[in-house]
This record gives sequence, C-alpha cells and structure tokens, in this order.
Amino acid sequence: MRLVEGARRTTIVIVEDEPAIADALAARLRVEGFAVEVAGDGLRGVELCDRIAPDLVVLDVMLPAIDGHEVCRRIQRERPVPVLMLTALDSEADLLVGLGVGADDYMTKPFSQREFVARVRALLRRAQRAGEPAPKAISAGPITIDPERREVRRDGALVHLTPTEFDLVHRLALRPGVVLSREQLLEEVWGYADGSAGVRTVDSHVAAVRRKLGADVLRTVQGIGYAFGMPAAAPER
Ligand code: CA
Repeated sequence: MRLVEGARRTTIVIVEDEPAIADALAARLRVEGFAVEVAGDGLRGVELCDRIAPDLVVLDVMLPAIDGHEVCRRIQRERPVPVLMLTALDSEADLLVGLGVGADDYMTKPFSQREFVARVRALLRRAQRAGEPAPKAISAGPITIDPERREVRRDGALVHLTPTEFDLVHRLALRPGVVLSREQLLEEVWGYADGSAGVRTVDSHVAAVRRKLGADVLRTVQGIGYAFGMPAAAPER
C-alpha cells in the first residue's frame, strides 16, 4: 500500500488495460502535478479506488474481467467521484449516450493530450465548485433541490444523482423556464470553453436525469436545448 504523505495532492486513478495509453496519460498528468495511480483491469481499478479514494477517475470502457460500465457503477456506489470515460469508437460513444451509465464525461480515442488535460481540469474544477458554499434550496412542484447537501428529492424521496447530473438539474432549475442550449450547458456545467465536441454528453445526462427523477423534470425544446420542466420553480427566500 502506498500512502500519500503531507498535503494531499490531487489524486487521479487511471483504469486502462493498454499499457502504452495508460503510461502516456499517467506521465502527462504527473507532469501537470497530479498524483497518478494506474490499474490494468476493472477489478484492480475498483480496488484501487476503494483504497486511495481518488479525486477523479479516468476509465477505459473496454476492459478485461469487468468492463468500464460496471467499474463506474461500483466506484460510484461508495461515494460520488468524477469519472472521465475513454471509448475506442464513436459508435461506442453513441451506445454510451443511450445507456447513460453515470460517467461525467466521455472522450473518444484517439485524442490529444492537451484536450485530455483540459477535460480533466474542467471536471476537477466542477468537483471543487461543488464543495463551495451553496446557494439557497429550490422547491418546484414535487422536486426539491438542496445545493448545500447536494440532494434532490421527488415527493420527499431522495434520488441519487451523480455529481454531473446534480449540477445539470441545479443549473437549469436556477433559471426556471429559461432554455439553455447544449453548448451553454457544456460551458456552464462541464466547464468547456468550446462546447461543440461534447453535445451528446449533455443528451446522455439529460436521459439519465429523466430516468431517475421523472421524464417531466427536464423539458426538450426542439432545436434549441433544454429547460427545467417544473412550473413556478423559484429560489426560496
Ligand atoms: Ca481497453
């Protein structure tokens, strides 16, 4: 077992069975100042995450033993942690959008290291923002959102959302009735400067939120984007 001494550096776990890719990504993240641990298969990945409680997980989808989806489910079960999924094919990314497995972001290989680092930093910024003092609770129809506890309830029942799903719902609920484009949401929720690359990521998370919280919570405005679907939502004073 390896223990981090003194001030804890931001720690990232990479779960990837292709050593060349894992090594390249790990080396780049270390250059950027992160502490990095690598696991070569899914089971080791889950074990590693349990042991060191990383700040972020980079997770390949196609893995031996248990695949990335299952790893994502298992590591999110204990505590929410931002997950960046790596896929080999665009078609796989399409499939992921359909499944909405609860990863916070996806990248299709091959990608530039620069883009990779930008995505990692954006995810970490969001996670950090989530820890800052939160604004007032929102109550709208059957939905209540407590930003301080990062809890969402429907009819009083707690609904488990991933950090990104929470941010998405909260962001839309802050401006009830206002339609935000997928590009705007990518910028505001995911922290991308240029959102054009990841609009499907937004769709995937909207689908997941609807499955968990009810289809009526988020409204699709055809050709424009999404809006919070509950009437008379307003921040409580
Ligand atoms: Ca793989």
